[in-house]
Amino acid sequence: MRIGIDFDNTIVNYDGVFYKAGRRLEWLPKLDDESKQAVKSYFISRGEEPRWTELQGIVYGSDIRFAKPYEGIYEILGRWKDVGHQMFLVSHKTKFPIIGDKLDFHQAASNWLKENDLMPYFEETYFCPQKDEKVEMIGRLELDYFIDDLPSILNAVNFPQKTHGVLFSPDNQDGNGLRSVSKWAELLKVVC
Ligand SMILES: [Mg+2]
Repeated sequence: MRIGIDFDNTIVNYDGVFYKAGRRLEWLPKLDDESKQAVKSYFISRGEEPRWTELQGIVYGSDIRFAKPYEGIYEILGRWKDVGHQMFLVSHKTKFPIIGDKLDFHQAASNWLKENDLMPYFEETYFCPQKDEKVEMIGRLELDYFIDDLPSILNAVNFPQKTHGVLFSPDNQDGNGLRSVSKWAELLKVVC
């Protein structure tokens, strides 16, 4: 099987990283909920969307080093590789932040993959600056499966018909009919 996998929030677990960055910069008060969604809501509710955008730039750039791979990932990727499946990483990621220091997100992501020993599992890795390019790449690679945390990718109008979309949703969000898993270990029920 040819298996495509998204990067941010599918491979990379940013739990707590947004909150810690916001606190370190003194942009955030103490919050009970340290999730990315809670941090985003804090800025949006105060009309501080540019600050939220800037914080994302910091997290996806320099602070990615504090993020961890999701639990179970090495076991699943190792097993898939052993049985001969081929894995392709396809991410939608701009090269530079919209606001803030010009830190190369693609380089930061590649460094993170190397530091976490994940590169050897992938045949190829693609960082596509536009969402449309990502969906096109999923088609061009003729993947049997694509795993992503965003329903908007899996439900995109040009998402290839022959590729089975699988929603990765640690919070059990409503997949709107999409096949979904909340943990990497559950992916063995989809592709063994
Ligand atoms: Mg993602």
